[in-house]
Amino acid sequence: MTDDRDLREEMIATCLRMNASGLNIGAAGNLSVRVEGGLLITPSGIAYDKMRPEQIVEMDWEGRYYGDFVPSSEWRFHYDILKARPDVDAVLHSHAVNCSILACCRLDIPPVHYMIGVSGGDVVKCSGYAPFGTAELSVEALSALEDRMACLLGNHGVIALGKTPAKAFAVLEEVENLARVYIGTRMLGGGVILGKEEMTVVLERFKSYGKQADEAVDTAVKNRVEPPPHGGSKRL
Ligand code: 13P
Ligand code: ZN
Repeated sequence: MTDDRDLREEMIATCLRMNASGLNIGAAGNLSVRVEGGLLITPSGIAYDKMRPEQIVEMDWEGRYYGDFVPSSEWRFHYDILKARPDVDAVLHSHAVNCSILACCRLDIPPVHYMIGVSGGDVVKCSGYAPFGTAELSVEALSALEDRMACLLGNHGVIALGKTPAKAFAVLEEVENLARVYIGTRMLGGGVILGKEEMTVVLERFKSYGKQADEAVDTAVKNRVEPPPHGGSKRL
C-alpha cells in the first residue's frame, strides 16, 4: 500500500474535485486506475470526504478484490473497460446533471460544438439502459465507448476515460459542458449541428492542438494548428 499511497490520494482528490466542481452528487460515481497486475478502484458507497487511501480497493485481472473494503458496485465496467482499452489507464464515472438529463432522454450529444472532438469522435453516444452494477451495463458501456473517450449511460450518468485521473476528469468536465450547451441549444429551438467534413477538420486539428515545443508535432498532420512564426528564444 505504501508505494501506491500517492496514487490513492490522487484518486480521492479527483473525486472530491468532481463533487466540488458540480460534476457529481454525493457518494455517486466512482474512479479506477490501472496499476501493475490489476486496478485500484474506489470503495462502494463511501462519501468522498470520508474516504481514506487505505479504503481504495485493489483488484487483479482475474476479477478478485483484496482487503476489507468492497469495491464500487460498478467494478464490472471499470474492469472490462481497462481490460479492453489498453489506450486508457483511468475510468471516471459520475452522475453529472446535464449528462444525466440527456441520458434520461436517451439522447446522444451531436457535434453542436466543436469541442466534442475531445471525446475522440463527432458524437458522444448514449448507451441503452441496464441496471447499475450489472454485467449488462458493462456490455452497454463498452459498446457506446467504442473508439471514444466518453459515453452517456442510459437513465444513469456518464463515463469519461483518460491516461490519468486528471485527464479523465478533464474529459468529464468538457462532456458535461457539451451536454449543457446542447440542452441550451435545444431550448432555443435547436443549434446548428456541424457536418461530417467540418468535424473531420476538427478531429485532425485536435491531433496537433495544445502541444508545446517539447511534444513534437508531425508536420504531415493535415489541418494542423499553426503557431505564428518563431522569433527566437527571447525578445531583445
Ligand atoms: P458505488 O458507490 O458502488 O461506486 O456506486 C455509485 C454509482 O454511481 C453506481 O452507479
Ligand atoms: Zn452511477
